[in-house]
Parts: sequence; structure tokens; C-alpha cells
Amino acid sequence: MSLEFECTNVVPGCEGKVSGETVEEVLGRTAEHAKDVHGLASLDEETIDKVKASIVSVS
Ligand SMILES: [Zn+2]
Repeated sequence: MSLEFECTNVVPGCEGKVSGETVEEVLGRTAEHAKDVHGLASLDEETIDKVKASIVSVS
């Protein structure tokens, strides 16, 4: 089982998907995605909360 986050939940229309074994891993990769694709230097608290709320478990 792993965790997955779809960026469209926070940035509507973005097809980016991030997966990882832990929430921390997903958040780390999401931060990289946000930097590379959306030009965000870092994620603020509100965005991190949205990301966490959108992470789902996949088998
Ligand atoms: Zn995105």
C-alpha cells in the first residue's frame, strides 16, 4: 500500500500525481512538483493542510 496525492485537488486542472510510502515523502515530492511545475519556492501551511487532506491510500 502506498499514498497518493493528485495535484488537481489543490491546483485544479493540474495532472500532476505524487506518490510515496509516507505522508512526509508525499509532501516532499509535492514540494518538488510545486517548485518545478508551479514555480512555488515552498508550500505554505494552508497548502500543506490541503495536500494532507487530499492524500489517499492506494493498494
Ligand atoms: Zn501540479
